Amino acid sequence: MKVIKNTKIIKRILKGSRSLSFIPTMGSLHNGHISLIKKAKRDKNKIVVSIFVNPKQFENNKDYKSYPRNLGKDLNILKKQKIDFVFLPRVKDIYLYKTKNKIYLDKFSKNLCGKYRSGHFKGVIDIVNRLVEIVRPKKIYLGKKDYQQLILIKKHFSKNNFKIKIIECNTYRDAFGLAESSRNKSLNENQLNVARNVYRILKKNKLFIKRNLKNYRLNNLKKQIISLGLKIEYIKLLNLKTLKYPKINENFNIFIAYYLGKTRLIDNI
Ligand code: AMP
Repeated sequence: MKVIKNTKIIKRILKGSRSLSFIPTMGSLHNGHISLIKKAKRDKNKIVVSIFVNPKQFENNKDYKSYPRNLGKDLNILKKQKIDFVFLPRVKDIYLYKTKNKIYLDKFSKNLCGKYRSGHFKGVIDIVNRLVEIVRPKKIYLGKKDYQQLILIKKHFSKNNFKIKIIECNTYRDAFGLAESSRNKSLNENQLNVARNVYRILKKNKLFIKRNLKNYRLNNLKKQIISLGLKIEYIKLLNLKTLKYPKINENFNIFIAYYLGKTRLIDNI
């Protein structure tokens, strides 16, 4: 496994390898990330994983600084997974890189998380664009856990005619249904149980809503979740294709962002 920190060096090293699979991450790796790696391995392409905590996508410096980091452990995980290349760009280096493409931010960026985190998706698209321009992979693996991010990256690639295949990966959950997240590491035992209960409530309500969209009241669901003692940032039903409130018999997911103490979690079920 080659660990590369410099933009120019990685470009040079990857120049000959044109069948690359790429998995961008912010590190503090967990089973969710590993599920993406395992999926990528089925292709037999060489795999590049990047670890970069991108300051431009955080609301403030405090949030950026407190994001969980564990590079030593991450590298051990990647070594065990037999990854070919790990890219660890430095902030200055990657932002000095001159990009060819213009950031395209679809209006869906104003919905869900974008409504509460100004500048977040611009920061996400900017960094993914840089990483992809540098690595030039054939395939990129992205998780549906961050569904809004996945859609916005897709729209940016499509607008800029990227020749890249996006592999959408299912959300990996623990035995109790909680979506794996680096931020779960900041939860205490009690908060973990609450987060698992949120999943249980959402799952139950989704089944009910599927049969009963007409009679369903979002406030009812909100009350059930708030009674667990947490703060909801948003909760919304969206058709996964139209990205609008679903009509009867359409497929949809419940999208949620909430705070457990200082930890912000998102999911869609
Ligand atoms: P992150 O390190 O949180 O930026 O995530 C890196 C990639 O892993 C993104 O494409 C995420 O959507 C994906 N990811 C994060 N958590 C999960 C999960 N529990 N299941 C599947 N993919 C995930």
